Order: sequence, then C-alpha cells, then structure tokens
Amino acid sequence: MTQWCPGCGNFAILKVMQEVLAELQAEGTLLENIVLVSGIGQHAKIVDYLKVNSFYSLHGRAVAAAEGIKLANPKLKVIVFVGDGDSYGEGLEHLIFAAKRNIDLTVVVHDNRVYALTTGQYTPTSPLGYKGRSTPTGTHEHPLNPLELLLAAGATYLARGYNARTEQLKGLIKEAILHPGFALIDLLQVCVTFYNQYDHYNQRVYELTGHNPADYNEALSKIKEWDYNSDAKIALGKFYQVERSTFDSFFSGGDTVDRGQLIKTLLERMV
Ligand code: SF4
Repeated sequence: MTQWCPGCGNFAILKVMQEVLAELQAEGTLLENIVLVSGIGQHAKIVDYLKVNSFYSLHGRAVAAAEGIKLANPKLKVIVFVGDGDSYGEGLEHLIFAAKRNIDLTVVVHDNRVYALTTGQYTPTSPLGYKGRSTPTGTHEHPLNPLELLLAAGATYLARGYNARTEQLKGLIKEAILHPGFALIDLLQVCVTFYNQYDHYNQRVYELTGHNPADYNEALSKIKEWDYNSDAKIALGKFYQVERSTFDSFFSGGDTVDRGQLIKTLLERMV
C-alpha cells in the first residue's frame, strides 16, 4: 500500500525501478551491493517500496550522504532519488560538486516542478508565473535549466525521462546505473494534484534520435532547446555521455583494507 495520490507519476517510476533492479540482479549484480538514498519529499517514499538497503537523508542532503556511502565503500552502486525542490533548490551545491568530482553516483530527480509534500510551492524548475501556495499571483522568476547547469558542472551522463514513457525510462535508468561516473536523469514526474502537466507534456515530448551524446556542444544545444518555460518541443533521452576518471577511483585503487570488517569493528567499539 503506497501513500501517493491515485495517478501520481511516482507509481510508474516505482514499477520501472522494480524492473531495473530485477534485471540487474539477473545479470549478476548482488542486491546487497546496491544502496538507495533519498531526500525528503513525495519521491522519497520510493525507497520504502523497494527491498534494497536504503538511507533517508536530511532535506537537500541526499547527494552528500550518497557521496559518503560511495567513498566508504567504492564497490557499492549508489542510486539517489531526489525531488526538484530537494536537489535543484536546497541541495544544489552538493549536486554541482558531485558532478564536478565525477563521483560514481546515479541521481534520479523526480522533477514534478512543484513542492508537492508541502502542498504546492514553486521550485527552481516551475515556469515563470506559476501560481501556488507561496505565489498566489504567480512567480516572478525564470526557471533553472538543470541539465545545462549540470553539463557545465562536469556531469558525465545526462538524460531526461518522463514517467509516461516507461520503456525508454527503464533503459535510461539502467544505463545511468551502469555508467561509471556521475549520472543524472531529470525525470518529468507528473504531480496530478498540484501541477498536472500530462496534457502539456504529451503534446510536446519527442524521443532524441540521431544525436551524438559524446559531443558537448551538440548536447548543450539539445539541452537548451527547452528552457522549462517555453512551449518548445521537449526532448527525451540521453543528451550526454563521456568517460572520465571518477573521484571514488582515487580512493579505491590498491586498497587492501576489508572495509566491511573495518566498519563492523568500529561499530562494535561504539556500542
Ligand atoms: S501530491 Fe503530487 S507528487 Fe505527491 S503523491 Fe500526490 S500526485 Fe504524487
């Protein structure tokens, strides 16, 4: 039994994640080597509905917590679920530095473009003029284009998904998890209660084809096509992917320490 509203985009994301984890497991990834980290918001409940080790962070601090987990044990696959307010607003600096370091994390941003848990305030990706609980006459701020910002910050995998295009989303999330480096998916997750964008998105989304994701300038050009405000077409798919040495690899090379045993010993000393 979940706690989301009927019709919430999070249901589709949960199903996609169940399928991705089952596929990874079938292909040899041990589920005990996967850790899910979430922030605070409606998205965060997803980790309660997946039977994998997980950690709830403070609001805006999910990426920082995930970095700590990854550095403590670089063998783990760490998948971070965050909201747009949670990560593009409150935790933006953590996101920028994780991208700059190219730390091997997968960040899935449930971007419903509204603070849904607190009933409808505007977030960094809400469009100009958005009317909500904190802006009854409309915002006076232009939205942020998070993918443009993260590309400039150094992310090595960037994509956009949509909860109503689940087959494509499944492929993107799996590819992002397998990508060695900082991967972020800006996931258009519709909040049917406070900002229902299904009609808007369905009329505008299209799948990226014939695009070279290894070309920085081409990626930037496609990312800038829609600024989260205009009525432009909305590209879905992988914008950018390159390989670069990861931050965590500097801490794991030649390491002969049994980290599991070390942590166990430290915990035993503490109790
Ligand atoms: S308020 Fe919005 S985001 Fe939260 S559960 Fe309901 S539909 Fe989903």
